[in-house]
Amino acid sequence: MKLSKLFTKTSKMPPHDADTTNAKFLLQGSFVHQEMAGVYSWLPLGLRVLNKVVGIVREEIDAIGGQEILMPALQPKENWDTTGRWNTVDVLFKIKSQTGKEYALGPTHEEIVTPLVGSFIRSYKDLPVAVYQIQTKYRDELRAKSGILRGREFGMKDLYSFHATQEDLERYYQEVLQAYVRIFQRCGLDVKVVEASGGSFTKKFSHEFQVVTPAGEDVILACSACTFAQNSEITTFKEGDKCPNCGGILTIVKGIEVGNIFDLNKKFSEAFKVEFTAEDGSRQTCLMGCYGIGTTRLVGTIVEALHDERGIIWPKSVAPYHVHIVNLNSKDEATQAKILETTLSLYEDLKKEGIEVIWDDRDASPGEKLADADLLGMPLRILVSEKTLREDSIEWKPRAEKDARLVRLRDVLEEIQTFIKG
Ligand SMILES: [Zn+2]
Repeated sequence: MKLSKLFTKTSKMPPHDADTTNAKFLLQGSFVHQEMAGVYSWLPLGLRVLNKVVGIVREEIDAIGGQEILMPALQPKENWDTTGRWNTVDVLFKIKSQTGKEYALGPTHEEIVTPLVGSFIRSYKDLPVAVYQIQTKYRDELRAKSGILRGREFGMKDLYSFHATQEDLERYYQEVLQAYVRIFQRCGLDVKVVEASGGSFTKKFSHEFQVVTPAGEDVILACSACTFAQNSEITTFKEGDKCPNCGGILTIVKGIEVGNIFDLNKKFSEAFKVEFTAEDGSRQTCLMGCYGIGTTRLVGTIVEALHDERGIIWPKSVAPYHVHIVNLNSKDEATQAKILETTLSLYEDLKKEGIEVIWDDRDASPGEKLADADLLGMPLRILVSEKTLREDSIEWKPRAEKDARLVRLRDVLEEIQTFIKG
């Protein structure tokens, strides 16, 4: 992609009302565009990140047997009456059609998925079942804030599992827990698994996944060596204690919640009468688990956790592009021709090799180009200038590192391939 062809533009200053780092950099770099409070459009660079995050989530959930479906955002009021949640979920978005019929815009999908899956379950042989979707959700927040961390409209992966026995539910619950850790680690994040107090509708147990970052809203006591953590308000441990898992040291850190998993027991299956014939011929009620990851929130969390004062530092796994080429122009006509020719041929070579590359081919000042490369945060910056060409080289600068070095032109392609794999 050539930056000159991208319809979006970066802005020099962050928007005045950007209250968080993710809002500041994502808006300034035009990854997203705010349409109203808590509602965003995803622009080309941001959508590439979101799609990669979603791709990782999909791979890991498919790998534990999740079957992908897509349910409607528009949900009938009757289903919410059946579970008694029409009047108890305070953020439920309620809308009325011109015939006076009432609907909810789903913040979650138990009210749809439970009768849906239930309609296919006859006997214990039909269980377990795990279905998930990656879909847009709605919350009628009084005050939307924190950039894309807490929106009125947001992306989510929600997985629901159905089981014949408590043992089977707990077995699958553990599989999901491990898959979640893999998802967040693949997104470049330091994630902790916190035993949670239970949320509003859990009878048995739940866990939340917290990404460690100074920008976090929650205070947790976390192991510095493994994923163990506890909510600092309900923990029986104190700072400096040994981790019960691995013997590491527990410290107080701040976290952003990026996912949660719940044992739902029979709350929803009883409401919708999802029953099956057990092995002994008796009729029994299904057990359920539900498992959420905010996909758009996850993108915001990556920015909160991985940035410096100049911009975002995308991990390779979710970066919009891997390589950001910058050519610095020369006033000398022959030198300028050489710079352009070298840059163009490098750009074409990388594209031919399937390497995701963006080229800042704009007629802009060196300062502007370098500031934008830092703001946009691709993992590797390659700079071509009169100075580097004098050494038959390019300047090599990983975004996450402080120092730049020269790499010979003939070695560049191979080194980039190694860098991306590494
Ligand atoms: Zn530990």
